[in-house]
Amino acid sequence: MNRLWKMNLVTKILVAFVIAIIVGIIAGPGAEVVKPLGDLFLRLIKFIIVPLVLASLVTGVASTGDIKKLGRMGGKTIVYYLATTALAVILGLLIATVLSPGSGLELKPEAAKTEAAEAPGIIDTLLAIVPTNPIAALVQGDMLPIIFFAIFLGIGISMVGQKAQAVQTWFEQFAEVMYKITNIVMKFAPIGVFGLVAPIVGKHGLAVLLPLSKVIFGVAIGCILHAAIIYSLSVKLFAKMNPLTFFKGIAPAGMIAFSTSSSSGTLPVTIQNVENNLGVSKRVSSFVLPLGATVNMDGTALYQGVCALFVAQFYGMDLSFAQHMTIVLTATLASIGTAGVPGAGLIMLTMVLTSVGLPLEGIALIAGVDRILDMFRTSVNVIGDASAAVVVAASEGELKGRRG
Ligand code: ASP
Repeated sequence: MNRLWKMNLVTKILVAFVIAIIVGIIAGPGAEVVKPLGDLFLRLIKFIIVPLVLASLVTGVASTGDIKKLGRMGGKTIVYYLATTALAVILGLLIATVLSPGSGLELKPEAAKTEAAEAPGIIDTLLAIVPTNPIAALVQGDMLPIIFFAIFLGIGISMVGQKAQAVQTWFEQFAEVMYKITNIVMKFAPIGVFGLVAPIVGKHGLAVLLPLSKVIFGVAIGCILHAAIIYSLSVKLFAKMNPLTFFKGIAPAGMIAFSTSSSSGTLPVTIQNVENNLGVSKRVSSFVLPLGATVNMDGTALYQGVCALFVAQFYGMDLSFAQHMTIVLTATLASIGTAGVPGAGLIMLTMVLTSVGLPLEGIALIAGVDRILDMFRTSVNVIGDASAAVVVAASEGELKGRRG
């Protein structure tokens, strides 16, 4: 027992995973009884998000206050996010072409109501980033308006200078308190992971998973390859960081993302891992990561690529090269519009299917196993955000030590 207590967090979470899988298999749907433990953990990490992002981003911006520098960092982040997301969809399409998971399947779509998600207009989306009432944005947890408000507060504080010293110090100290709370909550992670994973394993017995095992395999292998190739290369090339150091450092957040299927929910852990284990400065992490948790979803984009081809194959429809390109574009946009919460990617998949005229009933085929797919794609979403933080920090000269 004493040895178990002294293990590091990653090992403890891994042990919790294994126990959860065993308990889920043995108890079946009965494993649902431990779900409140998982829900409690999820609530605990979620309550940290808004105050943590606000305080750390205000502090980060106020400490430099250089608008030009901020713009440069923003530009690099967005280019990196778009490029890796488009690569993810292409990889998803390649894998689905090779594995052909939808051919020759005899499946009855689940009865599900499917209406196409509409892409919100680009102008409205951009306008919505500016909150008319920042307090309302904070209350509702709207991440982009919160980021906007925090950046402006930070700029304001640094422009006022000496007279706003007290406000700056207050945010700095408040951010420290939020970091401390994150550490405390993380101690509960193994129990939370157990409570989240056991009911999922219990509910999705092998019988549910088998008919769609090729899709699951396709998404899983795609996620693993994307992380292993793209993130390893980018941290190595752009940040001279050993990929193993990177994956080891971000492992707790990856596992929490896997168990919670929410990149927004994982955000406090991602921030903590990236700063403490990978040496990224607070200024970079507090900007790149909240933005990434909202708009950068490589795993979701990859999954949408795989699923679109799966649906086409299932209905025996051949897609042209132009249609493949349309999928790359819409899946990249759809993933940006996907909220970092469980199941959001499935809803946005309707947008991708509609763009190339695929039947929306296809969604119902995937719905039954979507939670499993969500676990893989969310981990990649989070690890992708972390890779961006490392790359941007290195290019800004704000990556300390730990490159191993
Ligand atoms: N669950 C994913 C996330 O939070 C979004 C999705 O459903 O694809 O990152």
